[in-house]
Amino acid sequence: MEEATGQLIADNWRRIVERVAAAVQSAGRDPNEVSIVAVTKYVGVPESAALLAAGATLLGESRPQQLWEKCEAEQLTDARWHLIGHLQRNKVARTVECAELIHSVDSPRLLKAINSAAEQTGKNCHVLLEVNTSGEAEKHGLTPDALSSLLDQLNDYPQAEVRGLMTMASRSGGQSQARKNFAVLRELRDSLASEELPLSELSMGMTGDFEAGIAEGATLVRIGSALFEGLEL
Ligand SMILES: *Cc1c(COP(=O)(O)O)cnc(C)c1O
Repeated sequence: MEEATGQLIADNWRRIVERVAAAVQSAGRDPNEVSIVAVTKYVGVPESAALLAAGATLLGESRPQQLWEKCEAEQLTDARWHLIGHLQRNKVARTVECAELIHSVDSPRLLKAINSAAEQTGKNCHVLLEVNTSGEAEKHGLTPDALSSLLDQLNDYPQAEVRGLMTMASRSGGQSQARKNFAVLRELRDSLASEELPLSELSMGMTGDFEAGIAEGATLVRIGSALFEGLEL
């Protein structure tokens, strides 16, 4: 990787940090409440390492295999990995070893598999439950009703610790439609959270709509393309 590429990535990272800070401020929220997951799925190990060097700490991958590969890369040993994309049950075991947080749990069967894998490793696995807030058929995610019944069964999965909820906004409709989808997630959280299960993390917002996510209470925004603007991918 050329030095200019590293510089470009560092500049992009700084610009995103500033935009996130501005969105947090205009929402009147505490800056410590919102973290950026730098999504590295578009790039290789050197570019991902450039993000760490620029100050990113949480890195996200959407495909399990890419997560495993990067998780073993020597240049990336300081990264804290998040899986943000769809996970199949046959890929759970290795993912649980790499990922600090799995954002995309969308079925009871997957939660069960994660719980079993966590039992094997002897430590709890942190997860978010993905909710389909847009109603789009091609989207992964639990319906609000399925979410609420899964939350009633969590005692069956003691080592899969549910920390909160995740959603993807509707593909059309821009920020204003995204904001409506994100409001649905926040309202679901507010109605389903309890003292034992605060569901404090809300993962919502990407390059095109993270300001809307932050306005609606996101604690994690998943930003990819804006970090690699100007690069030939
Ligand atoms: C790729 C991806 C992102 C990042 O999207 P950008 O628009 O590139 O910022 C966020 N979340 C998920 C689930 C993704 O797959």
